[in-house]
Amino acid sequence: MRRKHDRVIVVGGGPVGALAALLVARAGIPVTLIEREAGVQPDYRASTFHPPTLDLLEECGAEAALLRMGLVAPVSQFRDRRRGKIAEFDFSALARDTRHPYRLQCEQFKLVDWLYRELARIGASLLLEHTFAGLRQTDDEVRIEVDAPGGRRTLACDFLIGADGGRSRVRKAAGIAFEGFTFPEHFLVAGTRHDFKRHMPDICSVNYTADPVEWYLLLEIPDMWRVITPVDPAVEPSEAMKEQRLQDSLQNLLPRPEPYEILVKAVYRVHQRVAATYRKQRVFLAGDAAHLNNPLGGMGLNGGIHDALSLCARLARVWHGAAPDAELDGYEPQRRPEAINAISAITERNKRLMEERDPVVRSRNLAEMASLAADPARAYRYMLDASMISSLRRCGMVA
Ligand SMILES: Cc1cc2nc3c(=O)[nH]c(=O)nc-3n(C[C@H](O)[C@H](O)[C@H](O)COP(=O)(O)OP(=O)(O)OC[C@H]3O[C@@H](n4cnc5c(N)ncnc54)[C@H](O)[C@@H]3O)c2cc1C
Repeated sequence: MRRKHDRVIVVGGGPVGALAALLVARAGIPVTLIEREAGVQPDYRASTFHPPTLDLLEECGAEAALLRMGLVAPVSQFRDRRRGKIAEFDFSALARDTRHPYRLQCEQFKLVDWLYRELARIGASLLLEHTFAGLRQTDDEVRIEVDAPGGRRTLACDFLIGADGGRSRVRKAAGIAFEGFTFPEHFLVAGTRHDFKRHMPDICSVNYTADPVEWYLLLEIPDMWRVITPVDPAVEPSEAMKEQRLQDSLQNLLPRPEPYEILVKAVYRVHQRVAATYRKQRVFLAGDAAHLNNPLGGMGLNGGIHDALSLCARLARVWHGAAPDAELDGYEPQRRPEAINAISAITERNKRLMEERDPVVRSRNLAEMASLAADPARAYRYMLDASMISSLRRCGMVA
């Protein structure tokens, strides 16, 4: 494909877009990253980085940064609110499959902060307070409209990466449908410094607790514990964020005489959606712009990082003449099926397991999880899927 501008533009400076910009820049391609916010925003969504993601992030330095900032969690549990621990999975069993046989717990905004500093260090162009507003593309360029502090600007590039999140304006401007559905309930995230391990001695750092009324995910991250629970669809998100409701939810998890100190709180709408295509000529989608899923399994951002790694490696090979343009055609067939068959399928299965209301199905599920964990061969296969190693092997991104 002809190159007129000698530049790639990435829209969206979240973790996926900022990583894509770094990978493109490191490949010697001039890049501009466009972000609507004025700087890194605290974001209480992703905190889990899976083993092969860390393997793949070694080369660009992000793995070392995550290890410095995060908490290593080799074990995860599946629990029941009333019955306690049902199954435990020790990811050390994956030591021959990955150099990082554990989940690394680190908030996504810390990764974004590191990426922005890296971009600044290598002199890549990061335009903050620039909001993408529209695009036009021809056979040999992409032109975009951007709302900047000084007014509307037009920028041009050879390839555009839309990594502007679930509501992606790039995806809409490219006319790409976002198929799937939105869950009726929101997900509530609350962070507290209360030492759950002291009061619930048999838990570990990653605990999925099933319950027909209010399941919860209890995650240890550096400096605090994070609790994720569903919000009844009849309750307004603003109501769910009220102090008393948060206290009720935490007291229901673990009663204590005094109120919890709540350090962070947020409510998120949750979807299962995959873009109809990941590419329109010179425009590509990556991360949440391309696929959204519920957070039970911690796969959305990991999948987005895998998108960025695949796409940027392909772009670099084509840019430097090491591969024909057809290399870019391989991006969607490599990544989109994984969004459907791995990320969506596993996270949907996890959600069903956590919230099952039918008592018969529920006890069958609990028995099945217990027997799975007790059988080393089956537990190993389960961990290959849960850690996303199977997904990345299937699409040829790891050995
Ligand atoms: C409660 C919760 C917990 C989660 N936990 C995990 C987890 O543990 N592990 C995991 O892998 N995933 C998790 N996820 C999913 C994860 O948070 C997302 O997949 C991830 O944020 C996607 O990154 P992104 O860069 O694609 O999009 P975003 O993080 O949404 O970033 C998009 C960026 O684009 C910018 N932007 C938007 N529109 C424009 C515009 N018009 N112009 C310029 N810039 C724009 C935004 O400001 C933002 O910076 C979780 C999600 C939720 C809701």
